[in-house]
Amino acid sequence: MDRERQRTRRALVELVNIPNLDSGWVGPAQDFLQKYEPMRPDSAMPDAEVAEFGKQLYEVWQAVLNRDRFELEQANARLNGLLAAGDPIQGEGPALSADLKRAKFIYKPRTFLQKLELELLWSARSLARCPECGNCFIKRHSRDKYCGSECSGRARNKSQKILMQKRRRHAKRHRS
Ligand SMILES: [Zn+2]
Repeated sequence: MDRERQRTRRALVELVNIPNLDSGWVGPAQDFLQKYEPMRPDSAMPDAEVAEFGKQLYEVWQAVLNRDRFELEQANARLNGLLAAGDPIQGEGPALSADLKRAKFIYKPRTFLQKLELELLWSARSLARCPECGNCFIKRHSRDKYCGSECSGRARNKSQKILMQKRRRHAKRHRS
């Protein structure tokens, strides 16, 4: 995976986690804009758009995880709408254009938002949510369960503690 795509992936994960931060969206949205770019050029309220599309893409993410047919259809329709036209008033074209010479369609995201949506689509099979911290993340390996080593370590410690408690209880019962 090239660096550009890795960056888009990182941005996507940060974006969908913004709606669920306890700190509210204003600060995180501004941090996001400083690190990446606005969802669309000439956006009048770029930070509000980060929060709004973060929420929309988070809902798409949930639909994929829930595997609910109705939710998935709605999520598909939402992505189709955004990828098909962008914002016609701002002259944003579709994210897909025909290339007859190469006999195929080429992906041509016009906005950062369309880039993020395409990444979500391509990563659909690797979308996940960490059972330890609740953050959305993209799996590197299909067996990945936690978002990172911190959360998998914490989960391991917890299960070890439970195991120790069980053993202690068991030993006590046998002593008395
Ligand atoms: Zn986690």
